[in-house]
Amino acid sequence: MKRKLRMGMVGGGNDAFIGAVHRIAAFMDGKIELVCGAFSIDPQISKQSGEDLFVAPERVYLNYEEMIEKESLLPEGERMDFVTIVTPNFLHFAPAKLALEKGFDVVVEKPMTVSVEEAKELQETVERTGRTLCLTHTYSGYPMVKQAKAMVKEGHFGKIRKIVVEYPQGWLSRLTEREGNAGAAWRADPKRSGKSLVMGDIGTHVAHLAEYVSGLKIEELCADLTTFVEGRLLDDDGSVLLRFQNGAKGVLMASQISAGEENAVRIRIYGEKGGLEWANEDPNNLIIKMLDQPRQLYRTGNAYAAPYTLSSFATHNTRVPAGHPEGLLESFANIYRNFAATVTAKREGRTPTAEEQDFPTVYDGVRGMAFIDTVVKNNEGTEKWTKFVL
Ligand code: NAD
Repeated sequence: MKRKLRMGMVGGGNDAFIGAVHRIAAFMDGKIELVCGAFSIDPQISKQSGEDLFVAPERVYLNYEEMIEKESLLPEGERMDFVTIVTPNFLHFAPAKLALEKGFDVVVEKPMTVSVEEAKELQETVERTGRTLCLTHTYSGYPMVKQAKAMVKEGHFGKIRKIVVEYPQGWLSRLTEREGNAGAAWRADPKRSGKSLVMGDIGTHVAHLAEYVSGLKIEELCADLTTFVEGRLLDDDGSVLLRFQNGAKGVLMASQISAGEENAVRIRIYGEKGGLEWANEDPNNLIIKMLDQPRQLYRTGNAYAAPYTLSSFATHNTRVPAGHPEGLLESFANIYRNFAATVTAKREGRTPTAEEQDFPTVYDGVRGMAFIDTVVKNNEGTEKWTKFVL
């Protein structure tokens, strides 16, 4: 395929937060172009957004149904290849399902849906249609996160015993949803957000990070959810104890009332021989702590000599030489680039490389929804541990 992949967008208009980040990420490597969209719930904003993004006016649609239907009728050489869905949580499932059924690949924001049932239906649709669905768990795109995963996988730390993940934020320390903040308003509304605010919005990110880096699956958990801000309809803070499949134990903290915090995502993993630490606020550093050794600092983009050579997964996802910091936009772009490479390879009848296939998929989306359900069920019930049921 000697051309760019053609992208359509649902949401992400001038009234949105994360849509613009998706476009920067999608365009970063020159493999993707935007050709159409239903950019907003407000048709005027959608029209204006399309104009600002130089999208042909006839391909700025009134709603996602019209977009997917009309694009599917265009000739092969013109129609979009995939849809990016960046709407509030309750509006992920329907456009994703319709797009897959009509033969389009999908990039969708997390949490993938608002229920396990919807998530499983998407999984069935992906399997039946053979299409590709990419879920944007942003933090898994960083080179030093991939290095961490590779080192755990090669047994550098021995058997893993302890996994600690944190995501404290402070932006919901007040009743922000009543202060005219549209993003906070839908997030705090159970009908548009899902069963849990804090776990849907940020808890699933770190649950995914814990499983992605450790390579281990959560088997059961014990959760404590709280609504600290008076008048709020959903939880804004959560602490979860985790049990993983090999006997490893973990702790997950997700909180939106950690006043003064920004996006302080952090993961620490400890095995029999040593451990690692990575933090979103310092993403080009990976700290390695081995028993009886001084600490080591791995940095993005270095051509270290053996045995310190960075993994192919880290270097594949790095764009500039060491010392030129990369960040959230590049991490996001890695997810898009790997998705685009996989879609292209499949269309050309090739098997994508392991590095190209390294992006979150529908299966991570199903686990994310099961995580939210299990946390809510445990928090509401009386049992100490609740099995993670898929
Ligand atoms: P937002 O409220 O800022 O924007 C939502 C957009 O969807 C707006 O443009 C709105 O007009 C549009 N929209 C709503 N209904 C629509 C419809 N029926 N048709 C077309 N457009 C419609 O929300 P946001 O902060 O950009 O979040 C969007 C999604 O992205 C959420 O699921 C959120 O969880 C996720 N998100 C993920 C990350 C990440 O790090 N991966 C970060 C932020 C948000």
